[in-house]
Amino acid sequence: TLKGKTAIITGSNSGIGLGVARELARAGADVVLNSFTDRDEDHKLAADLAEEFDVVARYIKADMSKPEECRALITHAGACDILVNNAGIQHVAPIEDFPTEKWDAIIAINLSSAFHTTAVALPLMRKAGWGRVVNIASAHGLTASPYKSAYIAAKHGIVGLSKTVALETAKEPITCNAICPGYVLTPLVESQIPDTAKKYGMTEEEAKQKVILERQPSKEFATVEQIGGTAVFLCSDAAEQITGTTISVDGGWTAL
Ligand code: NAD
Repeated sequence: TLKGKTAIITGSNSGIGLGVARELARAGADVVLNSFTDRDEDHKLAADLAEEFDVVARYIKADMSKPEECRALITHAGACDILVNNAGIQHVAPIEDFPTEKWDAIIAINLSSAFHTTAVALPLMRKAGWGRVVNIASAHGLTASPYKSAYIAAKHGIVGLSKTVALETAKEPITCNAICPGYVLTPLVESQIPDTAKKYGMTEEEAKQKVILERQPSKEFATVEQIGGTAVFLCSDAAEQITGTTISVDGGWTAL
């Protein structure tokens, strides 16, 4: 059980981040949800988690594209036993047309934010005598596809950052690993299905199977609960000696 531990999950008002927060709360952790908005519905997500799992749950607004806000998120939370760096965005374009501001935003949100949050979280973990850093990378942290230069550079980067943090904490009761999901059916991916179907003249089911899941040999999406369960495992005693590595949850993508 993670009772008494505080988990901060960046980018957690939807998709994988919210799914990971739910599984950590189910395991007993107090959770801090985050995104760059500050709406009633964001705070309600935290209130609902608190009620459902009988934990302390808060929502703290912080924009992960801004270094000071990344650092302030951890400081403001006051405790951080489990840090899940999940916030991420995507842009798809050939490199010669890739907008510089999209490149900069993706590197900032998908990679640099984890540097800033980790830098502030490690001293808190050391003080508490225990810590887990879980970075949500991607199958694209281990392999590439065309037209996703910034995303793939950032995801390979966060795998490298995870290994470095693991070595810097190797002698302490702190671990750092990266989870590498294949395709997960989040609102982000779901919203691409109608357009993909239209573009290829397919039904939505065909678009899912033949286009989106082309590289996922299982031909099934991973779920946010499975990514959350993997994060809970990395926080368990069984995972104490697992550090500086990646765990793929990708239906066989990286075995191809
Ligand atoms: P999503 O769009 O549902 O979630 C992204 C989250 O990040 C949202 O909560 C959003 O509010 C937040 N976010 C975006 N910009 C932010 C900012 N500037 N500051 C703070 N928060 C911000 O997408 P998702 O599919 O759940 O993706 C979550 C993570 O999982 C990302 O890092 C993504 O690269 C990774 N991932 C997703 C898949 C997939 O198939 N869905 C596969 C592999 C990896």
